[in-house]
Amino acid sequence: MTAKPVALRDVVEALDAELRTADIPDYGGAMNGLQVANGGAVRRVAVAVDASRDAIKQAAIAGASLLIVHHGLFWSGAQPITGVRYDKYRALFGADLAVYASHLPLDCHPELGNNVRLARALALTPDGGFARYKTIDVGVAGAAHEPTADVVERVRVFAAAYGGTVRTSVPTNGRVTRRWAICTGGGASSETLQEARARGIDTLIVGEGPHHTTVEAVEHDLCVVYAGHYATETLGVQALGAWIEDRFGVPWSFLHLPTGS
Ligand SMILES: [Zn+2]
Repeated sequence: MTAKPVALRDVVEALDAELRTADIPDYGGAMNGLQVANGGAVRRVAVAVDASRDAIKQAAIAGASLLIVHHGLFWSGAQPITGVRYDKYRALFGADLAVYASHLPLDCHPELGNNVRLARALALTPDGGFARYKTIDVGVAGAAHEPTADVVERVRVFAAAYGGTVRTSVPTNGRVTRRWAICTGGGASSETLQEARARGIDTLIVGEGPHHTTVEAVEHDLCVVYAGHYATETLGVQALGAWIEDRFGVPWSFLHLPTGS
């Protein structure tokens, strides 16, 4: 399918406005927005969770002129453009491929966000936010009344579709989920566990978290469901790809590159 090219500037402006890129706080290395420009035209979009070497290579092979990612290129701060980094930039420039990154703005978006989309995929209906970060709630929370094992089974099916596996901090037998929360990616931390306790959450679905969170979860009698960092952050970038196609008529594809975490 040959679509009419659209101006990169227009796509970036629309994304920035929709995602409130300038207003949503984030960690410095996230550098949300356009990270690498191209010659100015977008004919095809590729979306991926990470701006990895393989994602750049596959986006170039797919003929994409814009790669949209959740985890951008600059997490480690200022670094010399040598070795793998050089290879990545050479591939980007060689393919005239722009990169747009959206981290927390994409996590917390009320319609396209990773958290709200994961809730929907798990047949859970949010009624509020979770995982407070500065001025925003990164995640979502809601009410339910069903065996926790049933919730976890749906998470397992979802994660498996993206090549992931699921673990829980406590056995699910006999447990009932009445109040759940979701924080995708590295969503389990001492802070989110404390918040879960304060908000009466009994089931917390995350991507991953450090070992101590499993210990704390048991002490808080909280079922933390670890569904994989990668798997839980696949939905937002796909929602963005579809959103751009709707708005600009530019075709898009998802580059499935599981990381094992
Ligand atoms: Zn992440």
